[in-house]
Amino acid sequence: TSFAEIDLGEMLNQNIRRCKYVRPTPVQRYAIPIVLAGRDLMACAQTGSGKTAAFCFPIICGIIREHSVQRPRGPRTVYPLALILSPTRELSCQIHDEAKKFSYQTGVKVVVAYGGAPINQQLRELERGVDILVATPGRLVDLLERARVSLQMIRFLALDEADRMLDMGFEPQIRKIVEAMDMPRPGLRQTMLFSATFPKEIQRLASDFLSNYIFLAV
Ligand code: AMP
Repeated sequence: TSFAEIDLGEMLNQNIRRCKYVRPTPVQRYAIPIVLAGRDLMACAQTGSGKTAAFCFPIICGIIREHSVQRPRGPRTVYPLALILSPTRELSCQIHDEAKKFSYQTGVKVVVAYGGAPINQQLRELERGVDILVATPGRLVDLLERARVSLQMIRFLALDEADRMLDMGFEPQIRKIVEAMDMPRPGLRQTMLFSATFPKEIQRLASDFLSNYIFLAV
């Protein structure tokens, strides 16, 4: 299987070639078509499996398709179309760097927001517009409380390293974030949950946040 056989569109395929990805890894090969087909996904995948591209490609593809949707524009509030939650600043920055390469020249804007750093620079970045927001849970709750980000338009939600986020005590923040997404319009988002392990707590998140999902273990 090559990436060209998966219907990701010419722009994204060019960027994939530019990244020197030739063959999809197993998680990419199975996860991408599932998400492109509109299904929710729970994937057990380790670091190094290529999971970042597995959730970024279908998100970018979907956003290119939906790019013309009308979005409200508050004076200060931004309305991303996709949200990627990750446990740490390091992982969020890594995802942000990769997502930027994948979305090169597509017009899709990726912004990262993480805690433990001054918020002002991040606010300025957000003000320039955002399609895909990569964030750590605590900082995102802060942005929601300041009404600088609204999750009303979210079409895609990816939770990366969900087991680690729970280990770090982020469950209340994650629940708050998902609630902020579902209050105005439940059913709008497509959700991907990635975790290295699949204990009871992750199974509970999956049944609370995903609908009619496909389980993938690679
Ligand atoms: P990840 O598991 O997403 O952290 O990816 C692990 C590493 O593999 C990263 O450095 C990626 O850039 C690289 N990678 C992911 N998918 C592919 C692929 N299909 N071909 C070559 N390298 C890849």
